[in-house]
Amino acid sequence: MTTRTVRVRFAPSPTGGLHLGGVRTALFNYLFAKKHKGTFVLRIEDTDQTRFVAGAEQYILDCLDWCGILPDEGPHVEGKFSPYRQSERKASYRKYANQLVASGFAYYAFDTPEELGKMREAFKSESNPSPQYNSKVRMQMKNSLSLDKEIVNELIDKNTPYVIRIKMPNNEEVKLNDLIRGEVVFNTDQVDDKVLLKADGMPTYHLAVVVDDHEMEITHAFRGEEWLPSSPVHVLLWDYLGWKDSMPDWAHLPLILKPDGQGKLSKRDGDRLGFPVFAMDWMDPKTGELTKGFKEMGFLPEAFINMLALLGWNDGSGEEIFDKETLAERFTIDRIHKGGAKFDFEKAKWFNQEWIKKSTSEKLLPYVVHQLTKLTIELDEEKLLPIITLVKDRCQLLNDFVPQIIYFFKDPETIDTASIQTKWDENKSIFFNDWISNLEELTSWDAMSIETHFKEKATASGIKTGELQLPFRIMLVGAKFGPTVFEIAAIIGKESTIRRINHVLKMLQQ
Ligand code: GLU
Repeated sequence: MTTRTVRVRFAPSPTGGLHLGGVRTALFNYLFAKKHKGTFVLRIEDTDQTRFVAGAEQYILDCLDWCGILPDEGPHVEGKFSPYRQSERKASYRKYANQLVASGFAYYAFDTPEELGKMREAFKSESNPSPQYNSKVRMQMKNSLSLDKEIVNELIDKNTPYVIRIKMPNNEEVKLNDLIRGEVVFNTDQVDDKVLLKADGMPTYHLAVVVDDHEMEITHAFRGEEWLPSSPVHVLLWDYLGWKDSMPDWAHLPLILKPDGQGKLSKRDGDRLGFPVFAMDWMDPKTGELTKGFKEMGFLPEAFINMLALLGWNDGSGEEIFDKETLAERFTIDRIHKGGAKFDFEKAKWFNQEWIKKSTSEKLLPYVVHQLTKLTIELDEEKLLPIITLVKDRCQLLNDFVPQIIYFFKDPETIDTASIQTKWDENKSIFFNDWISNLEELTSWDAMSIETHFKEKATASGIKTGELQLPFRIMLVGAKFGPTVFEIAAIIGKESTIRRINHVLKMLQQ
């Protein structure tokens, strides 16, 4: 374990929406940095120009901001290690790629796409269906190891496009001490001669990740498990570039799996099963396709990161609800699981519900106002606060507030008379008519007084209160949900209560 001041990085490629697995990687970086009073860096890995998507970098920043886990350094804040976009760090990669060629650890390869295709055809066999560019084939290809020096120089002088490839050693063991998995041993024969620098002068991920982690003095590198197979290349590069002693400690994070555990959770699974996979709404600028995010589906950021932290980690106490500060205190890498974590949307909603219950109405107010103003409903915020208190335990998502609240501000548009019609009779009709004509007896219009008065009148007319409450609810709410009906009547006021009762009495007469 290194004793340097902790510096970690989240290194997304700006290629589209931010998958919840990416946010979890960012979160673990954030928590680890906070716990160790270190620095959390954002590095934009935008060297693959074919996959670059305009707006994706700003979107990533917006997502991290929404989650409350903005990095300390990155393209959004100047830092000691600027620039933080790989496309702006090109010169450095070329320099190191050349150094690797000069020291014999890498070589120029001039093969055209057609020549690579021919090689794959020629070496294809049943046991090797997709042959790779490796120690077995490299001497038969067009590169600076197989060609004479003069020819190589001539090709370079003539500006022949080339890539720089790592020369993977033959049948050697490379060991990696992973903080989650322990020692992982690879045989170099399992890995091909990966391209380090592309013909366009841009580095591939393999070179850039090593150079940048070195230059940015990264001490711990957390990344998805999918990178584990190429990690021997990175370990060798740290060695070949003479930086082995300062190589970060690696932690390959477990995958987030589909709800049935069969493979990695993808955006398509979300579309298919009706839940979000991205942190926030993402609009693909090329296709115009909109993909829903957790934020817009009505998640609180506190709930979202709480849920993510527990996808593959726990503190061993059995507790599940944690705020960001407690997560940072309790977070340890040795409690991250090795196996993939199944995503469960019902559980995600449970986290959100717990966080809504825990939140004060004042905190929830802006979210609710936002939802309601989208419906152009005029709001009296003072009136809204006690309503939020009344209904918040019934909401799993912030979007659930609208149906739970709207009838406080507007007479219901649809009324479920069907659910009371079968037990409706003339006596009930008389009761409600009498009750509303005697409301002036009530000196105070509050839930308790309304309830007492209602129950007294019910007893006097010989009808059980229980039989009157559902009709009363349907009259005020339009449906069978909501808090105590007397609370609702108190909030909507006497006038609205009478109007709604009369309206439904009329419907029931028809
Ligand atoms: N750009 C890589 C990705 O998006 C980063 C992997 C890493 O963190 O090293 O997966």
